[in-house]
Amino acid sequence: MSQRLPQRIDLLAMADAGRTLEGRIEVTSLDRVLPLLHDTEGVLDVVMRMDTDPDGTRFLAGTIEGRIQLLCQRCLEPVVLPLNLAFRLGLVADQEEASRLTPRYEPLIVTAEPTRLADIVADEVLLAMPQVPVHPEQEKCLAPQTGTDSPEETQRENPFAVLAKLKDQL
Ligand SMILES: [Zn+2]
Repeated sequence: MSQRLPQRIDLLAMADAGRTLEGRIEVTSLDRVLPLLHDTEGVLDVVMRMDTDPDGTRFLAGTIEGRIQLLCQRCLEPVVLPLNLAFRLGLVADQEEASRLTPRYEPLIVTAEPTRLADIVADEVLLAMPQVPVHPEQEKCLAPQTGTDSPEETQRENPFAVLAKLKDQL
């Protein structure tokens, strides 16, 4: 069941009420991620559960699923990065509160201003992105741009083998 996600949310109020938001977010709304993308088409499935744990810590537990398209830095062709992220953020007022947070949570500093939902998603996506995106299989990068096989290339003799053969003949 997919709802339309609100643009901004009051995280603390949501945590107090024990609310869960579920819906889709356009990749184009992830401002901080956009400059790094090859293609900004698509949507991500987002679930965000806000609640208070038994220790009294207000938290946001979420998942992000989907895919984004980056540019391979080896061959400059598009490379798809599947996203299947799960995160737990402890909602804190400042750095001092953040330092007291249990290691189960990453701190998220929440101000009185409602938080932009797209910014939370963008930050998590940024964390999941490789610093230098490349195709996982190097062969994909080395494939000729035309997509046709070149038999000459594969059959050409190794120059060192040729040299060895010449030496044998001397
Ligand atoms: Zn590549």
